[in-house]
Amino acid sequence: MERIVVKVGSNVLTTPTGKLDITRLSAIVDQIAWLKEHRYEVILVSSGAVACGRSELKVEYALDSVEQRQLYSAIGQVKLINHYYDLFREYGIHIGQVLTMRENFQQGEQYDNQRACMEVMLDNAVIPIVNENDTVSITELMFTDNDELSGLISQMMGAKTLVLLSNVDGIYTGNPAEPDSQLIAKVNPKDQLDKYIQAEKSSAGRGGMESKYKTARQVSQSGIRVIIANGRRDNILPQVLTAPHTTPHTEFVPQQR
Ligand code: GLU
Repeated sequence: MERIVVKVGSNVLTTPTGKLDITRLSAIVDQIAWLKEHRYEVILVSSGAVACGRSELKVEYALDSVEQRQLYSAIGQVKLINHYYDLFREYGIHIGQVLTMRENFQQGEQYDNQRACMEVMLDNAVIPIVNENDTVSITELMFTDNDELSGLISQMMGAKTLVLLSNVDGIYTGNPAEPDSQLIAKVNPKDQLDKYIQAEKSSAGRGGMESKYKTARQVSQSGIRVIIANGRRDNILPQVLTAPHTTPHTEFVPQQR
């Protein structure tokens, strides 16, 4: 079995108006079920709680940014995980929810407990669905975003591959909207792409290409292959894993250790 971590960004799971895109969520579930059938051991890191909660509740007064995050993630996480539960159930696949915080990743008891928890889930063919515990982790204590979280999870669980699903095909040599820009297919451990990385982010999530690049570099240097691909493309996970030459993506080749 090959262990794989799949991170799905808020921008993949939400429509342009910020609502949860159930069709897309369902397509992601179908693809993860395919991975399970093909002997992959999957850990899913899913964003979307805040975006999900925001579309659920209209608040009549101004919330500050911490209140927004706490309120919307509390409501949204329930909605998100319920959808996953229903959709995976159709395949007879069990899921479990893992909410975590940055401090759980310092070496020690919490780190060991968290790893043991996910190991026992995987041993029993349960898919861990991981997100940050947004209701209690605030400002300085948060992960930069779920890209960073998924990198830490990949290292903690000794994954072979991390796939970061976003709403772009990967890293380009310029602005993806410009015709001259080319998608970079492979990044070797020594390649420096800083000059190509655009700082702007999507509106739905906290990440962006800058943080994906940072995570991808770090994680690939620790010996894990990292793939950035477009989660809005049909059947992207099976495609990128079985037909990489004909599927747009950026792969970070792992450093040999
Ligand atoms: N944990 C946040 C959520 O579920 C997402 C953080 C991110 O955008 O990376 O809404």
